[in-house]
Amino acid sequence: MVFTCRQCGTCCMYLGDYIVIERQIGPFRFECESVSTGTPFTAEVDEDKREIFCDHTFPEQHPHACRFLRPDGTLLRCTIHRDSPAQCKYYRCVTMRVADPEGRPLGYVTGALALHADDPTLRSVWEIVEKMRPKPDNEAEPWIAAFLREKGYRVE
Ligand code: SF4
Ligand code: SF4
Repeated sequence: MVFTCRQCGTCCMYLGDYIVIERQIGPFRFECESVSTGTPFTAEVDEDKREIFCDHTFPEQHPHACRFLRPDGTLLRCTIHRDSPAQCKYYRCVTMRVADPEGRPLGYVTGALALHADDPTLRSVWEIVEKMRPKPDNEAEPWIAAFLREKGYRVE
């Protein structure tokens, strides 16, 4: 499945402890650190997002959100899209949606290949998936989709 980010901002809402601004080095430039990987990076606010970045209402109201997240109409947008760390750029909140044979949604699989589902049968099938799947994620993804389809699930 080709992942398209809807720019809902959900994944950035609690990343204020992970994407940290160390200091401001220019009007729109910041020295930052991606705490989870210990990687320093320099970020400049995208030119077309400077106006929304300058409104600090949102970060004041949401202290746990990433400092670079801002509302833009109905979207929540990353204002450093060009300079954001690799793990942000390649993050996929959903890589597969799993449904029963009638199409009723049962759960989804994240980009890190974790199942989010309450359905007990699907969860027990997933235990088999975890034991048998190929280890490299790029091989595992099509393997998992094929395995679940073989078990009668719809996978999109
Ligand atoms: S990756 Fe997913 S949760 Fe994050 S902004 Fe995009 S659609 Fe929303
Ligand atoms: S840098 Fe951008 S994509 Fe990464 S957590 Fe912050 S707002 Fe989200």
